[in-house]
Amino acid sequence: MPSHRYLVQFSPKHTPHLFTDILVIGAGIAGLRAALEVPAGLDVLVVTKDNIQQSNSSYAQGGIAGVLSAEDRFENHIEDTLTAGAGLCDREIVDLVVREAPAQINDLIQWGTHFDLEDGQLALTREGGHSHRRIVHALGDATGHEVMRAIIARARQAPHVTIWDNTFTVDLLTHEGACVGALVDRPGQGKLLIWAKQTILASGGAGMVYRETTNPPVATGDGMAAAYRAGAELRDMEFMQFHPTVLYVAGSGRFLISEAVRGEGAYLRDKNGVRFMLAEDPRAELAPRDVVAQAIVRCMERTRHPNVYLDLSHLGAERVRQRFPGIEKVCRGFGLDITHDLIPVRPGAHYMIGGITVDPRGRTSVPNLWAAGEVSSSGLHGANRLASNSLLEGLVFGTACGRGAAEAAAGLPDTFTALPLHSQFQPETSGNLDVADITNSLRSLMVRQMGIVRERAGLAEAEADVAFWCGYVLAHEFETRPGWELQNLLTIARLMIWAALQREESRGVHFRGDFPKRDDAHWLRHLTCPPCLPEAPGRPATPQ
Ligand SMILES: Cc1cc2nc3c(=O)[nH]c(=O)nc-3n(C[C@H](O)[C@H](O)[C@H](O)COP(=O)(O)OP(=O)(O)OC[C@H]3O[C@@H](n4cnc5c(N)ncnc54)[C@H](O)[C@@H]3O)c2cc1C
Repeated sequence: MPSHRYLVQFSPKHTPHLFTDILVIGAGIAGLRAALEVPAGLDVLVVTKDNIQQSNSSYAQGGIAGVLSAEDRFENHIEDTLTAGAGLCDREIVDLVVREAPAQINDLIQWGTHFDLEDGQLALTREGGHSHRRIVHALGDATGHEVMRAIIARARQAPHVTIWDNTFTVDLLTHEGACVGALVDRPGQGKLLIWAKQTILASGGAGMVYRETTNPPVATGDGMAAAYRAGAELRDMEFMQFHPTVLYVAGSGRFLISEAVRGEGAYLRDKNGVRFMLAEDPRAELAPRDVVAQAIVRCMERTRHPNVYLDLSHLGAERVRQRFPGIEKVCRGFGLDITHDLIPVRPGAHYMIGGITVDPRGRTSVPNLWAAGEVSSSGLHGANRLASNSLLEGLVFGTACGRGAAEAAAGLPDTFTALPLHSQFQPETSGNLDVADITNSLRSLMVRQMGIVRERAGLAEAEADVAFWCGYVLAHEFETRPGWELQNLLTIARLMIWAALQREESRGVHFRGDFPKRDDAHWLRHLTCPPCLPEAPGRPATPQ
C-alpha cells in the first residue's frame, strides 16, 4: 500500500496556524476526562469531527463497572477481567483500573451525573462475565447519554478548555519523530495547523469498518490510522469484539440491545423457541460476549436463519419497561412489544480492543503523543473486553493522559513556534472516485471474511481485495471527510486482516475456523503491527 506520510498536501506558508498547550483529539468520555484533568494554567483545545454528542460514549447503554457493594471485592472484578481477557490482559493495568473505578464514578456523581438508584443507593446490575452486581447505570439503559451530558457541561464551564466541533483531524504532525500537533479541517476555515506542546488522541474506535455495527458513523478509526502514519506502534488489531445482540430489523440502524437485558434474566432462543445457550456454556446467556456471539453464529447456521431471538416475556412487564425504556421505545417503533414479543437479534461489530500501544500513563511510542480510550491498547481488555469496562478505561486513562500531558507541557518553554513542515504528498491518481461505493464494498467484505469466524482462504482474499483498493484510494488526494474516512478505514482494515492472518489460533474474540484451539505455546503474546505492510498481491476486486 502506498505509504504516504500525510493524506493531503500542505505547507506552513499557505496554511493558517494556531498554538495551544494541549490538543485533545476527540470529545468522548476519554477526551473530555483528559481535558478536565489539565490544570487551569494551561490552554486545552478539544477538537471533535462531528457535533459533540456524536461519540460511542454517548451511545453506551449498559453502564460503568466498579466495585461498590459490600458483597463484592476488587479481586473479583480483577479476576473477571482477566478471565474474559483470555491470557492477554496486563495484570498491573487491570489492577490499576479496577481500583480507581469507585473514585471515578464518584467524580461523575460530583459533576452532576444522575445514576439510577434503588432504595436511595446506587442501583447495580450484572452483565455477562461479571461474577457480581457491579454496573452503575443511568436513565435505565442510556448511561452514556447521561454521563456525557454531565461531562460535556463540566468541560464547557472550564475557562481554559475550548471545544471545536465539526473539526476533522486529518493527520498528526510530527517533527524529528515527535508529535507537534495536528492538521485539521474546519468548515469555513479549511485546513489549519494546530501546534501543540502535547497531543492526546482520544478519537475512539473503528466499528464502521463493518456493515453490521453498533457504532455511530464517527467511528472510522481515524486516530488509529493517523497514528500509524505518524509511526506509532499499534497492536492486537485482530481483536474486534462483536456484540451478540444487535436488533435485526430492516431500517433499525443496527440498534444495540444491551447486555444488561441478559443480565436481568432474558433468554436467547432459536427460531424454534429452543434456549440454545444452555447447551453451549454453563453460564448460558451470561457467558462472556465472545462465547455468546460464536454460539449465535453456530445457531444461525444450524437453523439456517439470519437471526436468533431475545425473550424477556418472563421478566414482568412493569420491570422491563422501567429498566429498559430506551430499548422498549425503539422496539415499539418497529411494532415490537418487548414485554411480550421475541426480539430478533444477531451479532454486530462493537468494540475495537486493539489500537495504539500505551504505557500505564497513556504514553504512546511517539514522544509527546498520548492516547486514551478505545483508540488505545492499554492491556486492560486482553483478547476480550469485559462488559462495561471500557467507559471506565476511558475515565482512568483519560485522567492519566490529562495529568501526564499537563506535567510534560508545563515543563516546556512558551517560545513554541511553527515548524517548517511540508507534506511531500503528490497524488498519483486523479478523477472522481465513488467513495460511497468503495466504503460499502469494504464494509461488506469485512463482514464476510473478517467476521466472527475467520479462515485463511477468506482472509487472504480479503487481504488482496483491500490491498487492491488501497493501491488507488491511498494514492488519491481528497478534500472532504468521506474520502479521508475511507482512506483510514482501508488502512485499519489492512492492519486487522494482516493481524488475523498472523494469529493462527483462537483466543477471546478472535476465532479461526481453521485453528479452533487456543495455542499458548506460540500465541500467549500481543501482536505488534509492522511499521509498513508489505505489498499484498493485488487483484481487481469484484464489486459487491
Ligand atoms: C451502542 C454502544 C453501547 C455501549 N455500551 C457500553 C457500556 O454500557 N459500557 C461501556 O463501558 N462501554 C460501552 N460501549 C463502549 C464505549 O461506549 C466506548 O468504548 C467508549 O465510549 C469509547 O470512548 P472514547 O472516548 O474512547 O471514544 P468515543 O466516545 O467514540 O469518542 C471519540 C471522539 O473522537 C472524535 N473523532 C473521531 N475521529 C476524529 C477525527 N478524525 N477528528 C476529530 N475528532 C474525531 C469523535 O467525534 C468523538 O468525539 C458501548 C459502545 C456502543 C457503540
